[in-house]
Amino acid sequence: MPEVTVRVTLLEKSPSPTAMTATAARTCYSANEPAAIVERWRSKPDDMVRTVDRVRSAGHHSTLEHNIYVFGVTGLSRAATHQLVRHRHLQFDQQSQRYLSFKSGEFPFVKPKKIASLPDASARFDRLMGEIGHAYQEMLDAGIPGEDARFILPNATASQLVVSGNARAWYEFLTLRTCNMAQWEIREMSFQVLRILKREDAVLFKDAGATCVRGYCHEPDGPNCPRYIAVAKAQVRDARSADHWLESKARKNGST
Ligand SMILES: Cc1cc2nc3c(=O)[nH]c(=O)nc-3n(C[C@H](O)[C@H](O)[C@H](O)COP(=O)(O)OP(=O)(O)OC[C@H]3O[C@@H](n4cnc5c(N)ncnc54)[C@H](O)[C@@H]3O)c2cc1C
Repeated sequence: MPEVTVRVTLLEKSPSPTAMTATAARTCYSANEPAAIVERWRSKPDDMVRTVDRVRSAGHHSTLEHNIYVFGVTGLSRAATHQLVRHRHLQFDQQSQRYLSFKSGEFPFVKPKKIASLPDASARFDRLMGEIGHAYQEMLDAGIPGEDARFILPNATASQLVVSGNARAWYEFLTLRTCNMAQWEIREMSFQVLRILKREDAVLFKDAGATCVRGYCHEPDGPNCPRYIAVAKAQVRDARSADHWLESKARKNGST
């Protein structure tokens, strides 16, 4: 019985997301035509980065919407895909359990690490997956269509999808799903998305992630979350070293 884990692959993206967001932002405040603004970034790349930094941190996020990213997602359990498809600003196409029947009762599944770490629970889980696979195959052999036989498949059954969305929709998704409060599997998936987006378009996704990355927590239990505490401590350290730097600069200038 194939046991699988989640894997995210970038299939397609808009060609110049940083320039497009900067162009959209600049168009709001400029007399120049958008086409002329696009040209401008060739000679002023630093200005382009500053423009994107400004709109991103000001929350002028409609400017992110002009960029599309399409991902292939495999090895995600039905328990997690059910959560994923709740994000209404992303678009989905998912492998069908009506049109595709798993051969020889061999359906792919995800085994949670906590179950895998307990030998008895792990063996019981494996036996159950095997039993379900046999029963599923018996039903298909009895002429029951896949769309009905699938009713006995578990939440653990792995699926695959194509998921697309604009940069703003991904940004919002990452805010909720890279948070420590999110379920581990969708979290694992969203960290893969986050790593890819940061690698592809570092400026656009500079502060993408859970809200603690941006200095606050939206969860009531936030102050007890180890991740939030780590981020807060790092910010205090950064603030102290910034203060220290400003003080020593002022001392050098003889202003204290
Ligand atoms: C930790 C965690 C636990 C969860 N637990 C549960 C649970 O127990 N049960 C459950 O059913 N769900 C649960 N969810 C799912 C959650 O309720 C949302 O459905 C999911 O996170 C999608 O978020 P969203 O609606 O903000 O996203 P999207 O659908 O992508 O929407 C993005 C944003 O667009 C705006 N928007 C979208 N549609 C509308 C609309 N119709 N009207 C007004 N504004 C709109 C909102 O500002 C929204 O935040 C959980 C989610 C998380 C992260």
